Amino acid sequence: MAATPVQSLVLSFHDARRVVEEHASGMPSPETETLALLHAAGRILAEPIVADRDIPPFPRATRDGYAVRAADVASVPVTLNVIGEIKAGLLRPVSSRMNPGEAFAIMTGAPVPPEADAVVMIEYTSARGDSIEITKSFSPGENIVPQGAEARRGSVLLEPGTRLNESAIALAASIGKEKVRVFARPRVAVLTTGDEIVEIDEQPGPTQIRNSNSYSLAVQILEAGGEPVLLPIAPDEPRRLRELIEQGLQSDLLIMTGGVSMGRYDLVEQVLAELHADFFFTGAKIQPGRPVVFGCCGQALPSAKYFFGLPGNPVSTMVTFELFAKPMIEALGGMRARPLAFLHARLKSEIRVKTGLTRFLPAIHMGKLEGSHVEIVPWQGSGDIAAQARANCYVVVPPDRGHIPAGEWVAVLQR
Ligand code: AMP
Ligand code: MG
Repeated sequence: MAATPVQSLVLSFHDARRVVEEHASGMPSPETETLALLHAAGRILAEPIVADRDIPPFPRATRDGYAVRAADVASVPVTLNVIGEIKAGLLRPVSSRMNPGEAFAIMTGAPVPPEADAVVMIEYTSARGDSIEITKSFSPGENIVPQGAEARRGSVLLEPGTRLNESAIALAASIGKEKVRVFARPRVAVLTTGDEIVEIDEQPGPTQIRNSNSYSLAVQILEAGGEPVLLPIAPDEPRRLRELIEQGLQSDLLIMTGGVSMGRYDLVEQVLAELHADFFFTGAKIQPGRPVVFGCCGQALPSAKYFFGLPGNPVSTMVTFELFAKPMIEALGGMRARPLAFLHARLKSEIRVKTGLTRFLPAIHMGKLEGSHVEIVPWQGSGDIAAQARANCYVVVPPDRGHIPAGEWVAVLQR
């Protein structure tokens, strides 16, 4: 094959991530669909969720006890006359006016009558027939959430682009949304390359490797809100590889794995160059995952298709997906961009590495209430799926650090 040379463009981790975020923020809004509320769990909201009335709709008691005028309990002990009971869900508001020296028994969640401005907790009272003795002062507003304090009618509770987790679903339920408009999930093609790779229902020969990357990627794509489309394995042969890449470019995003290193049979970039791809980077100064490729085929949006060429080593594939492909899938799914968030934890044992690369080392984060620790998982390098499966996070080592002593606070990227 007459190789088309691809200019090498290796960026720092931060620059590579920024390039992806810039492209992600320029994505047009996807199509939408309307789903029953529970079917929308995990999906991205395409319409604002607006308060249909004040929340709470009435001044709400937050304790069981007595609705009082705070002025009446300014000095205690004091005895007030109980003129009735207000329970949650009372169909009609109480009609009798509450005069000075009077109180209503009230339950959590019930509407506080207009003359009352505090709720005395039952723990600080003792009943005396129709009266109540109160032994503790309460200030105006105590144990009452005023009408509209959480949200005013007509205000936006959730913006489009929000992922519908359990609290977002609860909020939608609280305003009576039986159906909700969400963005369509982007279709993400997965193309594994390599002559040595066989499908998992085949018996591998002595030098063959089962395809695990398509499976880790499918899971990560689903978690990022995409719909994985698994293509057949591509051999290290340009014609068939090109056919499958062209097929993959029919989806909203193409993710390839393998074939992006410096080897003679790493043909992915060459085939993409033949298809007049633009390359935004052909490597990132990270480990694992250095040969990661990001680019786009076709001219102006929306027809242009983005692609990632992820390195074939299984841990590299997972790391580079997390760092670069995930924000693109989220953007294609209509989700609002969010920066990578790092936790910090104390390093249990020292780290020694060569400087120059930002490293994402599989690690176990053990969180205790008082201080949490993180420990690097012993591994045989970026092919070691078993080590990766024991880990629950990555410790991030900046490129200028060759040695991090035990006990130092380090950045942790949650998986
Ligand atoms: P490559 O990036 O093509 O040079 O592949 C690097 C390493 O990853 C090689 O040891 C491959 O056998 C392995 N590898 C590539 N693709 C896969 C895959 N789909 N599943 C598991 N291992 C793979
Ligand atoms: Mg290969």
